[in-house]
Amino acid sequence: MDEQRTEIASLGEFGLIDHLTKNNETMQAGTLLSVGDDAAVIDQFGKQCVVSTDMLIEGIHFDLMYTPLKHLGYKAVAVNLSDICAMNATPTQILMSIGISNRFSLEAIDEFYEGVYAACRRYNVDLVGGDTSSSQKGFIVSITAIGEVSPNEYVTRSGAKKNDLICVSGDLGGAYVGLQLLEREKRIFLENPGVQPELNDKAYIVGRILKPEPRADIVNWLQEKGIKPTSMIDISDGLSSELLHICKQSGVGCVLYEDKIPMHTETREMAFEFQIDPTLCALSGGEDYELLFTIPQEEYEKIVLNEQVSVIGYITDASEGSHLLTRQGNKHPLKAQGWNAFEG
Ligand code: ADP
Ligand code: MG
Repeated sequence: MDEQRTEIASLGEFGLIDHLTKNNETMQAGTLLSVGDDAAVIDQFGKQCVVSTDMLIEGIHFDLMYTPLKHLGYKAVAVNLSDICAMNATPTQILMSIGISNRFSLEAIDEFYEGVYAACRRYNVDLVGGDTSSSQKGFIVSITAIGEVSPNEYVTRSGAKKNDLICVSGDLGGAYVGLQLLEREKRIFLENPGVQPELNDKAYIVGRILKPEPRADIVNWLQEKGIKPTSMIDISDGLSSELLHICKQSGVGCVLYEDKIPMHTETREMAFEFQIDPTLCALSGGEDYELLFTIPQEEYEKIVLNEQVSVIGYITDASEGSHLLTRQGNKHPLKAQGWNAFEG
């Protein structure tokens, strides 16, 4: 039970908006008008504008039993910024719409906004508006993210060319095993409410699911080095599914090397404990929010300088299909989802 519980109804809608945005400061020169009017005003200074929106619904996208509200606020912003980064753009502003049932106190919503503002500060993004409503049941969050990119420097999913190198940032599969761990601890807790979960030595994978970071650093680095990916996507659904999106939309095929897929030791250990193939966690587990992109072969010398980027395969003609080359040297068609990706 919370130490203090203030009913949201005691503030009213406008009181709540005021309360949530009273310390809202803007950092972007382009934010000409922020919260408080009928709309925000943004100057893009000759840049192109990138916009994306995402909705998160309690019970569908998150479980508040093991998701602290502060983390949820941070993650809701982070996954939206990730979409902007995946366009090779820099996030600049967000709009945040929430639906809240009377189960939530003001203190709870404050915690959520703490996470929202923390992510905004971390990524130099302004909260410039939103909408507030009551909901009959549960918590609903919808975020619109805005970003900027130099004219025609945005990167789509459809530009991959034969012989391009396939690259991925960070490591994969951690969010999936982190989620499995939290689900296991939840089941144990529901059966034995006295037992506290032991997550201390699993900080990395739990962090991967609860607190993902958009790879704005990778976008900046690519820009600094003058590398423009031919295609790019962020990994929300798993490597296979995202790579197949690039292949389909670019009209190409690919070869992916199993032994090149980057994975953290903690991810591998947890996968073994759950008796699942770590590779499958990377291929089919989602929510890693790393960037998957293709670059021309000529950029190889530059890309290997970044330890945060792994080259994991190459693009082929569409007629050659999309394949995974296993450690044993077997070739398997890549499948979008599921745990039977190695069949056939
Ligand atoms: P309107 O009636 O024109 O939709 P609102 O009363 O909903 O205006 O919102 C007033 C101002 O507060 C607007 O600038 C809006 O963008 C902002 N706002 C509303 N809800 C939120 C929220 N949950 N977080 C941040 N800003 C919000
Ligand atoms: Mg409104």
